[in-house]
Amino acid sequence: MDARRKRINRLKKIIIITVLILILVPIVLCIILFAKLNYTKSKLEDVEEKLDNLIAMRDDGEIIEKTNEETGEVFYVYATANKELKVGASKAQEDAKKVYLTIDDGPSAMTDRILEILDSYNVKATFFVNGRTDEASIEAYKKIVNAGHSIGIHTYSHNYDSVYASVESFASEVDSLRNLIKDVTGKDTNLFRFPGGSSTTLAKNTGIRPLIDYLNQNGYVYFDWNVSSGDSTAGGLSAEQIVANVTTHVGEFDTPVVLMHDSEAKATTVEALPYIIENLLNMGYEICAIDEDTTPVQHVIK
Ligand SMILES: [Zn+2]
Repeated sequence: MDARRKRINRLKKIIIITVLILILVPIVLCIILFAKLNYTKSKLEDVEEKLDNLIAMRDDGEIIEKTNEETGEVFYVYATANKELKVGASKAQEDAKKVYLTIDDGPSAMTDRILEILDSYNVKATFFVNGRTDEASIEAYKKIVNAGHSIGIHTYSHNYDSVYASVESFASEVDSLRNLIKDVTGKDTNLFRFPGGSSTTLAKNTGIRPLIDYLNQNGYVYFDWNVSSGDSTAGGLSAEQIVANVTTHVGEFDTPVVLMHDSEAKATTVEALPYIIENLLNMGYEICAIDEDTTPVQHVIK
């Protein structure tokens, strides 16, 4: 009797397992097939969208610039009557490299022309000026500030014998120009550039350190340059040489600061300026004015 019951029980087990397998296998297969179907469907939708885009590209359309209102990102879409296809971000957004054009020794008879050129490209520069009180110079200071350019102090007289005579003389050369600029334009600037740069050997009476100390103690920040346009080379340079000096060297620095001059004697600088700007823009640079957040380029570190 025992042996018979055991056989019956084993048979029962076999039947139950078989039934379970018969039920479970189709369910599992269904689940797998369902997942595969969904995957295939989504792939198909992707392909359909790409196909739609391709068809849209074949239609008459145009590339238009758009701005993401939340992030401010500028991007381009290929737009047709019923379709928009994103085709890329703007060059400036992709690699916003900054370059600073600094223009020393003005105002001069060239200032107006320089301002017109900068304005026509809608780019900003930094003018390290000297002290002049004739009518045209007073107007020039105002125009520089009102156009949104930065204005900095390049000492009142630019006369090396006076600027570098003593710390007191230096202080007076700096502060008197700061006051003149403030009176005329309303702008109180603390940007400074040494005549000859902070590495000049002309400050032999005092050494450069006490002058740097004076600037630091009185809230001035001095800026030198790392790219020279070469426009102060004796005998002058052609516009082509000035353009080449700038465009071949800006790439060597993370923060290129370009030295050029605003002077009646330097007509080739003005001639070169539009080409310099166009080349820099084509190279993907954003041309900016120096402000208080700009990391100073300094030959002699404070
Ligand atoms: Zn100078």
